[in-house]
Amino acid sequence: MPVKGLGEYDDHNVFARILRGEIPSRKVYEDEWVLAFHDIAPQAPVHVLVIPKKRWVSIADFSARASEGEIAGFWRAVGAVARQLDLEGTGYRVLANMGEHASQEVPHFHVHIFGGRPLGRMLERRTEG
Ligand code: AMP
Repeated sequence: MPVKGLGEYDDHNVFARILRGEIPSRKVYEDEWVLAFHDIAPQAPVHVLVIPKKRWVSIADFSARASEGEIAGFWRAVGAVARQLDLEGTGYRVLANMGEHASQEVPHFHVHIFGGRPLGRMLERRTEG
């Protein structure tokens, strides 16, 4: 069931537990602002998640309430992770799901970094209206 992406932060969500070291992750990068680790069910040859260390439910929550230092630190880290993964030459995609229509599953803000193959168009093509 997708989360709403707003509301109270749930300290029992899976990424909160990873940040506390209660469950393992395959870490690729860490600094004062973020932790980055491989997605457990990769959808591309490279599929890494970048999460802020603080308690933000979604990009809506993060963008509205995080400090400027935290926002800058987060996005600089996303670029640093992609660079570390050697994705800049071939390119990559960054994606954040928020709420029900985007099927956000984990209620701790995160971005996906996909790479390692041509990724196709960003959304399934369909006729609207
Ligand atoms: P989203 O739909 O944007 O909330 O995506 C959540 C992502 O978290 C999915 O791609 C899951 O495969 C991934 N995920 C869930 N549990 C874990 C875990 N324990 N370690 C790494 N990735 C996870």
